[in-house]
Amino acid sequence: MPKAPKEPHRPWLPITKSSRSGWSNRYDADFYNKAVWRKLSRYILNSQPLCVICKVAPSEHADHIISIRNGGAPLDESNVQGVCRRCHNSKSASEKGGAGVGGENL
Ligand SMILES: [Zn+2]
Repeated sequence: MPKAPKEPHRPWLPITKSSRSGWSNRYDADFYNKAVWRKLSRYILNSQPLCVICKVAPSEHADHIISIRNGGAPLDESNVQGVCRRCHNSKSASEKGGAGVGGENL
């Protein structure tokens, strides 16, 4: 799909706050839509049908053990684990630095 270059790239200009805060999210969205990632995640979910964290629920998400933004390898299968939705949510929440979800007694 052709992209019309509306704004020329100006490396001498400072990165604006809005574009910097949007960067990682946009990168994530692009990456997780890639066929190569979908293929890897399908492979992980097939080989790890049970959530590796709680070992109870079926895994629904392929999750980066070390997240990409923390320098983890995006497409290294040893950096990807199958987790259930619940564990994925609480892991993502704690990675965002929030006190958020955790600390729940089962
Ligand atoms: Zn789980």
